[in-house]
Amino acid sequence: MTGSRGSPTGSKARYGRFGGRYVPETLMEALIRLDEAFTRAMADPAFQQDLSDHLTHYAGRPTPLTFCPNLSRSLGCRIYLKREDLLHGGAHKLNNTLGQALLARSMGKHRIIAETGAGQHGVATAIAGARLGIPVEVYMGETDIHRQALNVSRMRLLGAKVIPVASGTRTLKDAVNEALRDWVERVEDTYYLLGSVVGPHPYPLMVRTFQSVIGEEARRQVLEREGRLPDAILACVGGGSNAIGIFHRFLEDDVRLIGVEAGGEGLATGMHGASLCAGSPGVLHGALSYLLQDEDGQVSETHSIAAGLDYPGVGPELAHLRESGRMEAVSVTDRAAEEAFSLLARTEGIVPALESAHAIAHLVEIAGDLDRDSIVVVNLSGRGDKDVETTVSVPQGTGGSR
Ligand SMILES: *Cc1c(COP(=O)(O)O)cnc(C)c1O
Repeated sequence: MTGSRGSPTGSKARYGRFGGRYVPETLMEALIRLDEAFTRAMADPAFQQDLSDHLTHYAGRPTPLTFCPNLSRSLGCRIYLKREDLLHGGAHKLNNTLGQALLARSMGKHRIIAETGAGQHGVATAIAGARLGIPVEVYMGETDIHRQALNVSRMRLLGAKVIPVASGTRTLKDAVNEALRDWVERVEDTYYLLGSVVGPHPYPLMVRTFQSVIGEEARRQVLEREGRLPDAILACVGGGSNAIGIFHRFLEDDVRLIGVEAGGEGLATGMHGASLCAGSPGVLHGALSYLLQDEDGQVSETHSIAAGLDYPGVGPELAHLRESGRMEAVSVTDRAAEEAFSLLARTEGIVPALESAHAIAHLVEIAGDLDRDSIVVVNLSGRGDKDVETTVSVPQGTGGSR
């Protein structure tokens, strides 16, 4: 274990006391080389141009910043949505997978591996691999393979190989463990493409860098439209990549940043995914951060109606932002998220991912405390087509809330 060993020449591995590289020695060399390749790519104008071309002409950036007149009227503030649901693939995840797949290519890797839970990151990796002509293999828990049949088919259609994981609870955390094991064995020709701002350094830094395009655009767009910065920004938090992606450019500004976690059936029931609100510091998947664990340090089972928020850990930078007071962390229940899901569909004609609906739900909760001219930006991390079946219990066609 080498959590405290920094890299004298590389980028910063810690966010306050969080982050680091708690990995076996066999992976240290690979992580240091990855850090060097990433630093080199970021300073290389040709790499930046290539990434920018892919984001613009393939992925569909910039995504719009949409004003919501109806929801604004009913909640009593000025609401904008950053439309990552309109990115190719239907969520923000492609910003990261395209960036890392281009990095894999620049490093001369011939094989990409990834882990996936709900299948969304597996699909986004398969898209990037197909586009750049690099074979993709995705580790996925057997339980998740059964629960997420559509995404398994999508990955296969996109040419990726799905590898079932039968260990542990046969879900996301077990898939990460298997992917790390694979990487240790084939580190020479294999690139491990991690899906959120978690894992050992430099992953949290790399994923944040590739997702920061969200906040760069949102800041420019809101200044163009309103002539000033927003009062608050809300984003859902699973691993934390869409949240830090929109927050990062605003860290130095006087803007409230609110991360919304999966409250599941309520924090008191233990059936949730709220690592920041209800977890404690510990090491998971190579980094020190907040996580849901028992007294022995065994990782707890999590629950959320939104598959993308169903993860027991959270990125180390978010743990630091929360602990230092820069970011607020809150949670909303499955039920509140479902209500927000149909509210946004009925009022604005936009079906959000259930993950993103958590951020809308919290806005509904705090709207009473905001002024009429308060400007709020919600990161709409993905679209909700995948969730329509899950939420059929919500009353339909009740005529909207207006
Ligand atoms: C995967 C996913 C999330 C959660 O991941 P973060 O790393 O926390 O952003 C949120 N929303 C959508 C739509 C997702 O697909």
